[in-house]
Amino acid sequence: MTDCLFCKIINGDISVNKIYEDEDILAFHDINPQAPHHFLVIPKIHISTLNNTDNAQLLGKLTLTASSIAKELGFADEGYRVVMNCNEQGGQAVYHVHLHCLGGRALTWPPG
Ligand code: 5GP
Ligand code: ZN
Repeated sequence: MTDCLFCKIINGDISVNKIYEDEDILAFHDINPQAPHHFLVIPKIHISTLNNTDNAQLLGKLTLTASSIAKELGFADEGYRVVMNCNEQGGQAVYHVHLHCLGGRALTWPPG
């Protein structure tokens, strides 16, 4: 999708600090981290929100990749949070499905 920020990142039009990439997904550090560790995992196909997919395999892969990266970066045992914001009240700003993974500090619950 031409006017989608994350599609531009996938196409290489906008550069990011990449962590992991394969044929289906891309993981990169968030530009505005909300915790000492904060990265995003996104599918390479454009899906606007969680309401617009039933691709369980791809959604599962996003989640398991977040866990693998948290282990690789060394904060999995201390703990972390994975979040997918959906639509306006969920706090979604970029309408290309993405999983946040945050760690490296004690995260509060419930979120604001
Ligand atoms: P949302 O609120 O849609 O769930 O989260 C979007 C996230 O994308 C935010 O945490 C924001 O900091 C991140 N983000 C937005 N633009 C860019 C960018 O150009 N590069 C990177 N690395 N992250 C971005
Ligand atoms: Zn997109």
